Amino acid sequence: MVTHAWIHRVCEAGVKIASVKGNKVFDAENFDASLMDMFDVLFQADAANKYAERLSRLSKASYDSRLKEAREKGTAVHTVGPAWLQAVGKRPNITWPRIPARVKIVREIYDLTAAGQPPWGIAKMFNQRGELSFTGKAWERTAIVRILRNRAVEGDRAVGEGKNSKPTGEVLLGYYGDPIVPLDVIAAARAMLDRRRRGKGRNSGAVNNLFGQKLRCGQCGGRMMLGGYRSNFLTCYDASRGNGCDHTDTFKYRPFEAEALETILPIALDERYFRQAKKSNYLGLEIATVEKDIRDKQAEAKRLVSLLQRNESPTTEAALVELEAEIGKRNASLTALNTQLAEAQGAATAEAHLERMYAVKDALRHPQDDVRLPARLRVAEALSAVIERVHCTAWSADDRAFYVIFKNLKMTRFEDDGTTTDFSPPPLTLKVAA
Ligand SMILES: [Zn+2]
Repeated sequence: MVTHAWIHRVCEAGVKIASVKGNKVFDAENFDASLMDMFDVLFQADAANKYAERLSRLSKASYDSRLKEAREKGTAVHTVGPAWLQAVGKRPNITWPRIPARVKIVREIYDLTAAGQPPWGIAKMFNQRGELSFTGKAWERTAIVRILRNRAVEGDRAVGEGKNSKPTGEVLLGYYGDPIVPLDVIAAARAMLDRRRRGKGRNSGAVNNLFGQKLRCGQCGGRMMLGGYRSNFLTCYDASRGNGCDHTDTFKYRPFEAEALETILPIALDERYFRQAKKSNYLGLEIATVEKDIRDKQAEAKRLVSLLQRNESPTTEAALVELEAEIGKRNASLTALNTQLAEAQGAATAEAHLERMYAVKDALRHPQDDVRLPARLRVAEALSAVIERVHCTAWSADDRAFYVIFKNLKMTRFEDDGTTTDFSPPPLTLKVAA
């Protein structure tokens, strides 16, 4: 009688307890007197509990038999399906006609996700154009994710059990009929979603495409989205939605990335190199100034020496001593400047620079996220420092190219197929300090 002991303790502490049925009130005073009444309450509670258990056993049994029938005959388990399907008829013979407007929304969610749009971005876009969610409210990121994870999109029903219908892992294939989204689009969208989750947060998308928003449609100037199998293809975002652009050509992103990095990375990557190069230039100028000063002073000293040889003069002698002290000081600072210059150049020899570059390049494809993501972020930043735009232009079905326009307005054409045959010289040259 744990419950009895608990009521006793609570009443001792000064709490009054009323039974729901029978208007009985227990407190510290009447606790012992009303013991029989309390048994009454406890037995009622027990009966109610047993009743609830029996109900749940019955409904579990009924659910299990419905599930068995569904497995064997393909009949309906429930009368409620996903939000984009209507339930018509009576169980067990329910049909699931589509609700076209909602199916269209689901398609759009998958297409956008496959093209690299994050779920929060899709929710925002829907809300901005006044699209209501299937529950009649504003779209939330979680609603988008739920739709992206829902097996009903493939026409299948994931079997669940318990209060929250926790998935058991069993799937009734084709329960809702045919897929409402093509299976390859579903696969691409879910792969993108998984990658996004692994990448943790918004930046992971940006790192996937090293050129970010600089990649533009050559026709409408809009953004290019990464999508397709393993996110290897770029398409115009507006064209993919049929929104005012008909530039539906796809561009192979990976070969372009590899080719572009080979050329642009040496220029873009190591800003430290450029700082050092500038410093070398500055030091060079200072060294030249001091050297000239020393040459001038040495010439003056030489003149004074010959003057002294012809005519002994304490004044000239004093001037010469002072001059020689000055030359000594200049020589000391020249030595210091030369050491600094050697350091600056040493830090940025062409070899050291290339070594650093290759280290980052390897990291760009590293399987480990914590190695790859920081490297890709860093390179993406470095690229955006030197690149103004990248236009994806299709001149014909088999003539597609990336036009990289640099901040200095020079331009390079990269072939879409990753070859370097038709390849103009890089617009910036890597200057290596001598
Ligand atoms: Zn376009």
